[in-house]
Amino acid sequence: MLDAVIIGAGPSGLAASLSLSGWRPHYVANCTVESDVLEQKLQKHLESSPDGLITDSDIPDLAKGLRGRSNNPQALLFDALQHPGVDLGWSSPSCLELRHDPSAALTHVLVDPNPPGGSWHAMHEATNTLSPGPWMEFPAPAPSLAAHLGSAEAAAERQPRSTVAQYLEMVAGWFGLTAHYRSDRVSSVTYWDDGWTVAMAGSPPVRARSLVLAVGASGKPRRLGVEGEDLPFVAHRCVEPEGNASSVLVVGAGLSAADCIVHHLNKGRKVVHAFRGEVSATKIASKFGGQGAAGFYSEYHSLSRAMAHSDSTNLLGGQYEALQNSELRAIGSDGTCRVELPREQLSREVRVDAVAVLVGMEPDLQFLPDEVLAALKEQKPIDVHDGVTSTHPVFVEVDPFSCEAAAWPGLYALGPLRGDNFMRFAIHDAHGAAAAIAARAITEDS
Ligand SMILES: Cc1cc2nc3c(=O)[nH]c(=O)nc-3n(C[C@H](O)[C@H](O)[C@H](O)COP(=O)(O)OP(=O)(O)OC[C@H]3O[C@@H](n4cnc5c(N)ncnc54)[C@H](O)[C@@H]3O)c2cc1C
Repeated sequence: MLDAVIIGAGPSGLAASLSLSGWRPHYVANCTVESDVLEQKLQKHLESSPDGLITDSDIPDLAKGLRGRSNNPQALLFDALQHPGVDLGWSSPSCLELRHDPSAALTHVLVDPNPPGGSWHAMHEATNTLSPGPWMEFPAPAPSLAAHLGSAEAAAERQPRSTVAQYLEMVAGWFGLTAHYRSDRVSSVTYWDDGWTVAMAGSPPVRARSLVLAVGASGKPRRLGVEGEDLPFVAHRCVEPEGNASSVLVVGAGLSAADCIVHHLNKGRKVVHAFRGEVSATKIASKFGGQGAAGFYSEYHSLSRAMAHSDSTNLLGGQYEALQNSELRAIGSDGTCRVELPREQLSREVRVDAVAVLVGMEPDLQFLPDEVLAALKEQKPIDVHDGVTSTHPVFVEVDPFSCEAAAWPGLYALGPLRGDNFMRFAIHDAHGAAAAIAARAITEDS
């Protein structure tokens, strides 16, 4: 029996495979972090652990009191080490280094139909990161993005999704994680006698003591449940429409919708944009509407401005029209869409060649056994740790350090599943998980 099966080879799954391969986090001596309190604790830590190794039992104390853009203390600690002061504009060297301890390696496989890098191989080609490049990097000794691109200036920018995908694949190869990788999709999982049997679409099943869910949060697009939603020109991800489509209705006002709108406008198309609520309440406007976003996020900023006007306007190479406070009610087979504007008590018909319904995603965990899904549903996911609210939805409630599901021992949920979408934070989850998985293995062997 293996120690673990990791489902998903995106950033979270790769980080889990790294930890399970025995790569362990170390504080680099004499390196400055942002928090003075943390700095003092780290100096004291070096007295008992001169090589700087941070074990799972050190993490809660070192992380205590840290605040930042995650509600997870473990993620905050390692982010504070990897990117000291980054939210204050510092560009200081990383104080975090992974070092290999082959004796800590655990047996595992990493399963994903996508190549190592996960969803970054599958996103729409037009997707650019929100984050500057260095936030998408693994800690040293992983090669930096600057080394990968051959230029620090290029690495500091937002990155096309293909660059992130190539970088992550290169990191997986560099650390030898491809030896654990299986190109396959997990079709079902059963739990029996303290172990998981994981069935895959294209290879024989494997059995493991622990199951690590690293499937991300974009497995299942949400649907509106309106008439015509299954018509062939209606998509629930941003896709290139068939034929010579010149007009697209995009529904939703999150980041996927924004990327899709920008893509179609750049192709010279007409985009009709329907979204619920006031412009100011949308993610696009609240994140990118301010003048501060005009430089780094210029396309989202221009879009957020245009969303506030109802007239059709030239934007980013195409024609754009916003239907704010609106709801798509039906899609006809000829492309005529009925959109209601409840506030004005109006109904409008718009005729388009394609429709993109981009109203959110959720994880697809249907491969789990019914009893596990039922236990996960019964939990009331908490999104506040230590007074800090999660930045993203929490789908699986976990212990903040081991990432073990509160509802099912031996089941671990990483990154977006436990409420942290940003790669910068998600890649640190697995240190605690690896320690917990090792402890389960030792208990069983003894
Ligand atoms: C459009 C978009 C833009 C984003 N931009 C940023 C950004 O700029 N910065 C940032 O930090 N984050 C960004 N994110 C968030 C993103 O979630 C994280 O960067 C990161 O990819 C999360 O890593 P993950 O490994 O947890 O999940 P993912 O990268 O989503 O990988 C999950 C993997 O699990 C696999 N999987 C699912 N089900 C199965 C199964 N049954 N069997 C086998 N494998 C399975 C999938 O194939 C997928 O490859 C963005 C996300 C999206 C959708």
